[in-house]
Amino acid sequence: MATSSRTKEIIRKHGFTFKKSLGQNFLIDLSVLDRIIDAAGLDETKGALEVGPGIGSLTEQLAQAAGKVTAVEIDRRLIPILGDVLSPYPHVSVVHSDILKTDLKKLWEEQFSGFAKVSVVANLPYYVTTPIIMKLLEEQLPIENIVVMVQKEVAERMAAKPGGKEYGSLSIAVQYYCEPELVCIVPGKAFIPPPNVDSAVIKLRRRTEPAVAVSDEAKFFRVVQTAFTQRRKTLSNNLSALSGKERKGELGELLQSCGVQPERRAETLSLDEFARVTEALEAHGM
Ligand code: SAM
Repeated sequence: MATSSRTKEIIRKHGFTFKKSLGQNFLIDLSVLDRIIDAAGLDETKGALEVGPGIGSLTEQLAQAAGKVTAVEIDRRLIPILGDVLSPYPHVSVVHSDILKTDLKKLWEEQFSGFAKVSVVANLPYYVTTPIIMKLLEEQLPIENIVVMVQKEVAERMAAKPGGKEYGSLSIAVQYYCEPELVCIVPGKAFIPPPNVDSAVIKLRRRTEPAVAVSDEAKFFRVVQTAFTQRRKTLSNNLSALSGKERKGELGELLQSCGVQPERRAETLSLDEFARVTEALEAHGM
């Protein structure tokens, strides 16, 4: 049980010291752990991949809810602690690895064969939240949903709708693959040591098909990235990096033909509009 006193006891017993550089803020609030587990909707027919188990608080709860749990932890010092804490659960495996350098397709074959539904559940290290989420989304893994604790403002960016300052390339990438739902806001005091910022649990339900149909996904994301290069600039100014300055007039007409005013800013465009613009640029060799 992830109470403050048990966490402190485990830390003292093993002489563990926190590494800020690895984003080590351990969750000590049981009600938050319950919210995470509920949101993941696990049962014994499903698997769970945890990124960064720490001393295993969330892992223990996952072990009680899922048929198979695999936890990937970068910090070698935590491996014997996890071995100790998780010894009652034979269906839990701990892998000592950096999630960003892990071959996830291979890990899936080794760990989750026989599990059609797998959730990714984690209290993510904040210094690498976005690269981890992007890796999970882009590698086309059979993930049912992702339930993660992240910095509150990152959760808001993931779930943002067009028109506000939170909406950007992260919102579009996440919403292209998933339907986001904010589960709860979590104050710093739910962790030891407490982080300086509020956190939030967000659930990303993987879509069966991407939110919009595009002929070239890489091109779609290139267009989105380019459109947001300088947020205060107009769409046609930013996208002229793709068309070339000499074809800027043509670019303006092309945007109009997609029903998008060239003076608009990227933050006002829906995924659908970005998809239309991508197809038009592609068709005109831009
Ligand atoms: N799950 C635990 C909890 O909720 O109390 C710990 C969460 S803590 C915010 C993040 C964990 O991720 C730490 O255990 C840290 O060592 C681990 N970590 C950091 N970077 C990692 C990486 N690249 N790959 C795998 N684990 C990582």
